[in-house]
Amino acid sequence: MLAHPHHAKGGTRTGRVLAFAKTPQASGNQRGSQAFPGMRGNRLPFHRDGDRCGARDLGNTERHARDHRSEWAARNCPNRLTRRAESLDYGDPTRPGRAILAFLSIQGLTVSYGGKADVLRDVCLDVERGEVIGLIGPSGSGKSTILRTLVGLLKPRAGTVTLDGRAVDYSSRASLRDARDRFAIVFQQYNLFQNMTALRNVAIAPTLVKKRPKHEVEAEARSLLARVGLAEKVNAYPDELSGGQQQRVAIARALALKPDILLLDEVTAALDPELVGEVLDTIRALQRDGMTMLIVSHEMAFIREVASRVAFLDQGSVVETGPPAAIFDQPRSPRLKEFTSRILRH
Ligand code: ADP
Ligand code: MG
Repeated sequence: MLAHPHHAKGGTRTGRVLAFAKTPQASGNQRGSQAFPGMRGNRLPFHRDGDRCGARDLGNTERHARDHRSEWAARNCPNRLTRRAESLDYGDPTRPGRAILAFLSIQGLTVSYGGKADVLRDVCLDVERGEVIGLIGPSGSGKSTILRTLVGLLKPRAGTVTLDGRAVDYSSRASLRDARDRFAIVFQQYNLFQNMTALRNVAIAPTLVKKRPKHEVEAEARSLLARVGLAEKVNAYPDELSGGQQQRVAIARALALKPDILLLDEVTAALDPELVGEVLDTIRALQRDGMTMLIVSHEMAFIREVASRVAFLDQGSVVETGPPAAIFDQPRSPRLKEFTSRILRH
């Protein structure tokens, strides 16, 4: 497992966990740090109900101990996609002090390209099964880097990724293979094999890489192509298909590996405007079928419609997260306000 950036700083686990979310009111408040020796200085996290833990909580020792001396707190980092009471990661009652991990849990993900400055800094994101997360943010903010890292194309410098309770170890080849089985990514450029039919493009990875029987894989490929609305095009070659159709083949190809999570990186950005709708329809259908997805897109109306939650990235950090309506209509951070006002002007 890769080291979390806070690990290096030492101290107790609780101490690390508490090392964020500066609360000015708490400055100089010695009571908190005496009551909770793990707490360092005036940097405090959140309570289970989503409230930020502040100086005023320090007298409430019962709530504080309950919420902050558990692994639940260990998983709370300031950027994480925290959800409100009904779906917060309450500790597992059968295992006091242990938290229930989200289906996909990204903690403190820090990534740089070739040892240069970090392009992702301490990214935290929790995704439940069947959720659709919209990743938005200015160009260069790190959206693609998150997806590339998850699928194993980049090695994180720090942080952990846990999928379905199992940590993905990006330094081990076996675990990387596992990550590539469980995440599938679709890019803006669909990169189909030009010399193969749609059917063969979809069937090739499961037959060659997974060594599954051809007839079985081809039957699945046909139904996948039908699912993306291309039942009629199984024998067409890419140059006989429109951009939108090719991108739908690429989505079917990604689904052929039966991923747990589908990562879509601006899959409509290279399409002529009249072809965008058919690809969005395909993604809508996947959402209705309960596919867990992380979607990077500039189609804000679409993100608003399909995403259960949205994460706004800027300069490699998750700046703000929330349900689409909150993100688009009531942005809190100045950077998101600026971003939404800019995109809504267009
Ligand atoms: P986004 O998808 O949000 O536009 P990216 O994840 O592609 O952003 O890029 C994040 C940052 O990483 C940018 O500053 C970009 O310049 C840098 N970056 C992306 N790809 C590379 C690369 N191959 N080598 C070095 N830096 C890169
Ligand atoms: Mg990108």
